[in-house]
Amino acid sequence: MSTKAFAAQSATSPLAPASITRREPLPTDVQIDILYCGVCHSDLHQARDEWHNYAPTTFPCVPGHEIVGRVTKVGTRVTKFKVGDFAAVGCMVDSCQSCPNCAKRLEQYCHQFPTFTYNSPDKHSGSHTLGGYSEQIVVDEAFTLKVSDKANLAATAPLLCAGITTYSPMRHWKVGPGKKVGIVGLGGLGHMGVKFAKALGAQVVLFTTSPGKVADGKRLGAHEVVVSSDPNAMTPHLHSFDFILDCVSAEHDLNSYLALLKLDGTLCLVGAPEKPLPVAAFSLLLPRKSLAGSGIGGIAETQEMLDFCDQHGIVSDIELIPIQKINEAYSRLLKGDVKYRFVIDMASLKSGG
Ligand code: NAP
Ligand code: ZN
Repeated sequence: MSTKAFAAQSATSPLAPASITRREPLPTDVQIDILYCGVCHSDLHQARDEWHNYAPTTFPCVPGHEIVGRVTKVGTRVTKFKVGDFAAVGCMVDSCQSCPNCAKRLEQYCHQFPTFTYNSPDKHSGSHTLGGYSEQIVVDEAFTLKVSDKANLAATAPLLCAGITTYSPMRHWKVGPGKKVGIVGLGGLGHMGVKFAKALGAQVVLFTTSPGKVADGKRLGAHEVVVSSDPNAMTPHLHSFDFILDCVSAEHDLNSYLALLKLDGTLCLVGAPEKPLPVAAFSLLLPRKSLAGSGIGGIAETQEMLDFCDQHGIVSDIELIPIQKINEAYSRLLKGDVKYRFVIDMASLKSGG
């Protein structure tokens, strides 16, 4: 079936209207009419092929992996959904389902690489996957999430990537009462990180390069906000953190954050800048510290996170945009000018574009 979308045709071309094809639902597939799609910095990295050395982009590229919509068709063996239900899709649409990591329900770490929602080889089409900046998507129900009927759907969409990417490492490193936790960078991921760290009961310190975000950082749940460009403001926090989650999308100095960890503390990267970040061995040696990374989360944990958000009244702070404003949104994202996630109102694609 033919579907309207917005696509980048090359690393240097802006996103523009395109027509793409979705498969007819197979027995375990659901077809979803996309209502909202969040705009992740990863969309920008990939549309511009900034991760060329790790995951080169195949064009045309239709980004979008924070998808919420309504089920319009179900395959004959689908059990979790019926037509009319709300449903969500995050960063993955498939995995091998049989390797040791898939068996642990960590499909994001599938030995054969998961099939990401966009820019992955697509075993059905023989081409590559195309994401949520589109009217419809067809996904196996095993990779489709349930969304509460009462949810604010637009503000729920960013949970599918920004939410799970910050929730998963916090659960893994046992963020909770008695732990001092730092969040670096108040963007889409960072603002969810602040909300989760607060909801999990930790002492939360936000590090931002933007003095204009201090008040928001506190409103979102940080007990303290440090403007990281001021070295005097960093000094009182030396050797004091159990866990720091780095949500920064561009080059920055990791060593100054490693210096803030206490014995056996962990700095976990979720931000994925284009270029490598230098780390001095001495930043890790004395006292013993860990530098780690984390990628999104498994499907079961994503559902757990959605249910946690439902129970705690957590959604994303969003700015709703029509899809025709997507290129402007990318420019603003690069300037840190978003509070704190753009979400595309997909009705704009149906009516215009
Ligand atoms: P975003 O909304 O653009 O936020 C990034 C934040 O980083 C900015 O708001 C800014 O915060 C800070 N920042 C930007 N440039 C900086 C610089 N030069 N120096 C220091 N700080 C800077 O991006 P996002 O959507 O949250 O994504 C963040 C990163 O995570 C991206 O690289 C994305 O690809 C990656 N990501 C990874 C995963 C994963 O599975 N690990 C999943 C999703 C996204 P302040 O203004 O507060 O300083
Ligand atoms: Zn993302």
